[in-house]
Amino acid sequence: MDERQLFDNISKLLERVRRSSQKSQFGNSDILVLAVSKTRSAEEIRAAHRCGLSDFGENYLQEAQDKIAALSDLPLCWHFIGPIQSNKTRAIAEQFDWVHSVDREKIARRLNDQRPEQCEPLNICLQVNVSGEQSKAGVSIDELVALSNAIGQLPRLRLRGLMCIPAPTDNEAQQRATFGRMREALHSLQLENPGMDTLSMGMSADLDAAIAEGATIVRVGTAIFGPRSR
Ligand SMILES: *Cc1c(COP(=O)(O)O)cnc(C)c1O
Repeated sequence: MDERQLFDNISKLLERVRRSSQKSQFGNSDILVLAVSKTRSAEEIRAAHRCGLSDFGENYLQEAQDKIAALSDLPLCWHFIGPIQSNKTRAIAEQFDWVHSVDREKIARRLNDQRPEQCEPLNICLQVNVSGEQSKAGVSIDELVALSNAIGQLPRLRLRGLMCIPAPTDNEAQQRATFGRMREALHSLQLENPGMDTLSMGMSADLDAAIAEGATIVRVGTAIFGPRSR
């Protein structure tokens, strides 16, 4: 995609985010657009940075590491948003600023132990299996209190909030209901964990509903970079 098209996509997206947040009763005025750059080249990320974006999300460690190295001259903020295998935690703890996909205490402990001392604490979101799909990653709403209390104790992590990838649907009422459950879940956790301030929810197809229900980070790939082949 040429840079003019990219700039155009990003301008339209930022306008869409702004409009949705103005309409929302739970709307936040400073929603972070996290550009999901899986399958995209370092050069495409560089171009998106020239268009004003600075936060990028990656799902696959190996692919991400090459890009992080190639772009180390830029002040980018890197978010890990994919499934985490235990043998990958060290590299994630060393190279990322955020991890959105923590759903087990064991993984959190490894990230905590492996976070380098000279770095700020690693920002963590707990991935919630909000649609209750059996095959899906994520902690159930029922298990959230125990997991967040355990992870909240870990000094090298900063527990920031919740993330979800709901079952896709075109039905906006259904999208809203799902994202609304996330908002309520965060709200009840905030009593014991006042530092939790983040709802990472909404992608290209459903970010308006997510913002309507209080998203603070939207994770957007297609609407920025165009369709992917995988
Ligand atoms: C790919 C991906 C996205 C972005 O999806 P789009 O539909 O391209 O906006 C967001 N979050 C996660 C976890 C993803 O894997």
